[in-house]
Amino acid sequence: MKVTKKFVEKVAAEACGEDVVPLVRYLYGKGKVSEFELVDALKEDVQPLRNKLYLLQKVSLVDSSRKKDKKKGWYIYYWTFKPQNSIWLYKKTREEKIERLRARLKREKNNQYYPCQNQCMRLNFDQAINFNFKCPECGEIMYLTDNSETIKKLEAEINKLQQEINKVEE
Ligand SMILES: [Zn+2]
Repeated sequence: MKVTKKFVEKVAAEACGEDVVPLVRYLYGKGKVSEFELVDALKEDVQPLRNKLYLLQKVSLVDSSRKKDKKKGWYIYYWTFKPQNSIWLYKKTREEKIERLRARLKREKNNQYYPCQNQCMRLNFDQAINFNFKCPECGEIMYLTDNSETIKKLEAEINKLQQEINKVEE
């Protein structure tokens, strides 16, 4: 897949929040950009700006380097956007989600569930038997319900995420 600006904005927002989008939009397609330039271009204070950059760095979407200003003797920080890493991050987020959903799917398949009619909670067989099939919250009788809809939904969600991964691997 070819990385586009729209794609990196989506991935960055997914991982670090919508707030980082203007920053990503500015950095995208440029080489090293100094913090001075960012403060200037985005009309933002350096500290909140750095916090966003650190968030992006944590997920490998930006890289930093510094250079000593010979005249003033201080360091200037530069940031570089890494568009290629957005594919890796996009896949990683989805793979982690799939893993969680698979664990949940396994539980759904291996358990029978007894929900409270008043929707206080849902117990599995062992828990329900402990409470004599009465909701510990409100006392309502808990009946066994079919969780095949939940299973179908989980499977569909896993499928969708897998397709999203396949698409970026093309
Ligand atoms: Zn209840």
